[in-house]
Amino acid sequence: MLSKKIVDGCEFVVFDLEWNQPIPGKAYDFDCSTLTGEIIEIGACRYVYENGDLVLKDVFSADVVPAVYTRLHYHVRKVTQKKNSDLKKGQPFEQAYKRFREFCGPDAILVGWGNSDPAMLKMNLKFFGMDHKLGMQFLDLQPIFSFFAGQKGKQRSVEAAVDFYNIEKKDIFHSATADAQYTGEVFEEIFRHNKPSEVISAISSSSVDPDVKNEFSLVGSEAKDAEGALKMVEGFVSVCPLCGKKLEDEISRFRIRKSQYALFSCIEHGELFSRTRIKKNKSGMFYASAVLRFATQTDYYLVASKKEEFDKYGITGAPAVPAEEKNDEIDNL
Ligand SMILES: [Zn+2]
Repeated sequence: MLSKKIVDGCEFVVFDLEWNQPIPGKAYDFDCSTLTGEIIEIGACRYVYENGDLVLKDVFSADVVPAVYTRLHYHVRKVTQKKNSDLKKGQPFEQAYKRFREFCGPDAILVGWGNSDPAMLKMNLKFFGMDHKLGMQFLDLQPIFSFFAGQKGKQRSVEAAVDFYNIEKKDIFHSATADAQYTGEVFEEIFRHNKPSEVISAISSSSVDPDVKNEFSLVGSEAKDAEGALKMVEGFVSVCPLCGKKLEDEISRFRIRKSQYALFSCIEHGELFSRTRIKKNKSGMFYASAVLRFATQTDYYLVASKKEEFDKYGITGAPAVPAEEKNDEIDNL
């Protein structure tokens, strides 16, 4: 999905945000669902890719004075170890963001841990009436780490990745600047411990455009059995969510236990990963919850490994069920 080729001189900005949350039960004069978190800190490191290596060029740090959530939510206080008085130090969001954009430059690829930071950044920009188009590709380093660390499909914290590579812990976690630096060091280690060409290939096929919606979902109507439930979402997983054209099969639909997987492609928009989960509601009826998203490297791996399992064992899957799939039966909600 990445149009930009990664060559010497390419820039990456590894960034992290901290945000404060509304106090539960407190009345605000706007709908809190339009601002689920207000940014209070931006941290970032700029890297240049050179000759198979990432070279750290600069570090960015900004404390942001919140405009609406001016008292720390107890959870945020616990995690970030900030005090209410800390929220008065810093710059308004508009100024801090302007500085951050200047720091990024015109051509960098944004890198983060997990995919919540670009969404939160866009939500804040929208809320404060600023231009919310980021205009940069975004790379979630978490699945890339899991892939190269041989822990495919697992979600690990930055701290777990720091431990994995024995990176020295100079700072506490959960400050935006420290977390951006730790994430950057993990990124450096991924390049150091693997073939740069393989890392670049994984990065190129995993970067997304945060300004474009890339995941689509549908919960189907009730049916009396699992097959019927799958039928209810069949139309949704047959056409491209962007253009409505019929999708071609790359890996045809197959089912393991309660999940159906497939890899499709739209001639115009590229490959789509599909996973549909069969569920049961309180009245014992079946329904399906379907997700279609533009496929990343992690998605290819997931669907290919599930297909291998299906070809070997069929619908019941491998007999020795891995720990994280112990509950992978059709369960009641
Ligand atoms: Zn399409």
